[in-house]
Amino acid sequence: MSSSWDDVYQGTPPWDIGRPQPEFVRLEEAGEIDGSVLDAGCGTGENAIFLSSHAHEVLGIDGSPRAIEKARAKARKAGSRATFQVANALDLAKLGRVFDTVIDSGLFHVFSDQERPRFVESLGHVLRPGGRYLMMCFSELEPGEWGPRRVSQAEIRSVFKDAWEVEEIRPARFAAKEAQLGAGEARAWLAIIRRGR
Ligand code: SAH
Repeated sequence: MSSSWDDVYQGTPPWDIGRPQPEFVRLEEAGEIDGSVLDAGCGTGENAIFLSSHAHEVLGIDGSPRAIEKARAKARKAGSRATFQVANALDLAKLGRVFDTVIDSGLFHVFSDQERPRFVESLGHVLRPGGRYLMMCFSELEPGEWGPRRVSQAEIRSVFKDAWEVEEIRPARFAAKEAQLGAGEARAWLAIIRRGR
């Protein structure tokens, strides 16, 4: 992955809001998150640390060493058992582990069209059969919103086929720092996708 991701973590990027994304908090409260969790593209670890505090065994991975350093420092400070590792989400087989759930808050939408199928293949190596991938990505662009890439429902469905079942794609909200975004949030999709058995 490009080192520009690591550069943005010299500062605090707009998505790094210092608390878990409300959509993932709601999913956890609704009992939608099962067992052990891989947080793919975890950034500075807020979602991973939150889920760990709710009795999930959690590994957060990110390609940015700086993000992982920050995540580990936060976990230490919070007394969290969440663990963090620098890894490429396009090559998750290297982790040599399988999880009940994979969460993705803002990773899928960074991939190019060419990378998407590679990511789905990578995901298949770390999600147990029958396990679910819970993903939030940008949807439509609103005036004054930041962020380059938007993803359509059809694009999500076209890449998760064959061994994958798209259970649901619903409108959601990506929280961001107020200053960078009109309403402090962006329109998003929350996709719930099951790996076939
Ligand atoms: N999930 C975090 C960060 C979202 S931003 C949050 O909600 O705050 C997208 C993240 O994906 C960045 O931290 C970036 O470093 C990471 N990333 C981008 N490409 C990656 C890749 N190929 N492998 C692992 N992480 C990647």
